[in-house]
Amino acid sequence: MFFSELAKYMERLELTTSRMQLIAILASLFKKTSSDEIDKVIYLIQGRLWPEWFGEEELGLGEKLIIKAISLASNTSEYVVEQTYKKYGDLGKAAEVLKQKGRSSVGLVQYMQTAKGGLTVSYVYSSLVKIAKLSGEGSRDMKIKILAGLLRDASPIEARYIVRLIDGNLRLGVGDATIMDALALAFTGSEASRSVIERAYNIRADLGNVAKTLATKGLDALKKIEPEVGIPVRPMLAERLDNAREILEKTGGVCLVEFKYDGERVQIHKKGSRVILYSRRLENITHQYPDVVEMCIKHLKADSIIVEGEVIAVDPETYEFRPFQELMHRKRKHNIEEIIKEYPVVVRLFDLLYVDGIDATTLILPERRKLLEKHVDQVQEFSIAEYEIVDNEEDIDKFFMKAIESGCEGIVAKAIHKESIYQAGARGWLWIKYKRDYKSEMIDSVDLTVVGAFYGRGRRAGKFGTVLLAAYDPENDVFKTVCKVGTGFTDQDLVELNNKLSKLISRQKPARVVAEIEPDVWVVPELVMEVIGAEITLSPVHTCCKGMVKKDAGLSIRFPRFIRWRPDKRPEDSTTEKEIYDMYLKQLRKVESVQHEER
Ligand code: ATP
Repeated sequence: MFFSELAKYMERLELTTSRMQLIAILASLFKKTSSDEIDKVIYLIQGRLWPEWFGEEELGLGEKLIIKAISLASNTSEYVVEQTYKKYGDLGKAAEVLKQKGRSSVGLVQYMQTAKGGLTVSYVYSSLVKIAKLSGEGSRDMKIKILAGLLRDASPIEARYIVRLIDGNLRLGVGDATIMDALALAFTGSEASRSVIERAYNIRADLGNVAKTLATKGLDALKKIEPEVGIPVRPMLAERLDNAREILEKTGGVCLVEFKYDGERVQIHKKGSRVILYSRRLENITHQYPDVVEMCIKHLKADSIIVEGEVIAVDPETYEFRPFQELMHRKRKHNIEEIIKEYPVVVRLFDLLYVDGIDATTLILPERRKLLEKHVDQVQEFSIAEYEIVDNEEDIDKFFMKAIESGCEGIVAKAIHKESIYQAGARGWLWIKYKRDYKSEMIDSVDLTVVGAFYGRGRRAGKFGTVLLAAYDPENDVFKTVCKVGTGFTDQDLVELNNKLSKLISRQKPARVVAEIEPDVWVVPELVMEVIGAEITLSPVHTCCKGMVKKDAGLSIRFPRFIRWRPDKRPEDSTTEKEIYDMYLKQLRKVESVQHEER
């Protein structure tokens, strides 16, 4: 496919404000794409070169270098490029405008390729890969040279999108779910295949790989996909409840209860002596935990294995659990050896997904646990999570108290019946978290995605001081607003907020945001924050749960307060609309029972 065609599609995607349109445009694009380019096209429209977890350098060339390359490609001075950039506030647009002005200069590749029709997607993709991978001495100049060459051969609209890809500013707002809908439409024309595509993606979190298998081998091959060591599996997630009685009801009268550790979830992939650690949002975090890598090599007894667990910070003297925040020290790039000593961690494993040719995701939990026990050589710093099998409320509550006393957040109750498989990528009732109460009307804190921002006043004038937050609606793959948050931020949090937002401001309302409030600026759904409020109330302006409780009213969180960033969560991992709805119902029930007792 010629890149010019992809660029035109990108423009159409950028201009649409409806999700149905996004799907239709994407499906038409995928139909035209050859099977050897489908993976590349999928990565590019998501503004990247490979799946997020790949661990390779992403594009993100600095502005200065891009300006230099544009100036070389358009035969203009860097000053003119800078001025054009200032005028449009978008380097891509600046490149386009300058290319339009200097149309006469034709580069070598374009000259050679004009007969064939111009730059191809594969050529642009491989040039971008080269730019991303170059490192070390002289790499800076090489990167500029390759980019300038590309831009010289590009048409104005192509230049716009090449630059936006390079400066990490593409923002087409195309989420994974939308791509899956479009793939189903393009390759099978039927809704039924959507669930096959989704299951394959849950087992192998690489949409490029899934699309390629679909395009080359068809739907049947996709049905047979198994986990592969090295490609992350999308994590199974828990529903929530706040009492033992309902937990037993949901799990069929008997379940396995386990400590809910307050750490960072890791998915450990080991093949021979090679170990990769993936985070909750499937980022490669191996470099943060060289000590955990060592533990895996020593204590995981299998050649190829995928297990899951929690990494927890512990006190270096007493080995008691420390809170999740302590793990932030591990994010530093330098002196990791010293940090390991200062902030030691332990690992508690809770699941096994694959071992030496066995796809364990289809096995029930008791069988997975048997395999886990067989393949882990347990020691103090690397062992299986503390658990018990329980069949009555009293034992659940006792275990819950024990967990809290040990410094855990609560417990996770897990079904052990004949349907208790590993549900990759799904939040269901097979796992139920039961967390400590936060002494507020709201049962739990929520994780919400920033979709807009408002400028502050007074001391905060000129800077963003309040954000518009949304819950996720997975059925429609959209974000629905639920509150505005302006409290709970320290000065440091606000600096961070402004830095993070500067890269995510959107020119228009992102297609996947459903809102009736107009913020000062729209923000591409990307940042997730944890928020707690006083209660959930009916709201005339927010779109979350609109019409579900009352006609023309949605739900919102009253007196919301920022608690912390959740960099470990993707926007699609935010609290869902349905969860907010359930929390509201639960709150109502609580109020009713208090009123009843008072009477
Ligand atoms: P939260 O914000 O409550 O951590 P979450 O959305 O990250 O939730 P959930 O699936 O809702 O994820 O809750 C389970 C989370 O709890 C896991 O992602 C994991 O990080 C953590 N966890 C701690 N101990 C366990 C355990 N024994 N079994 C499963 N998950 C555990």
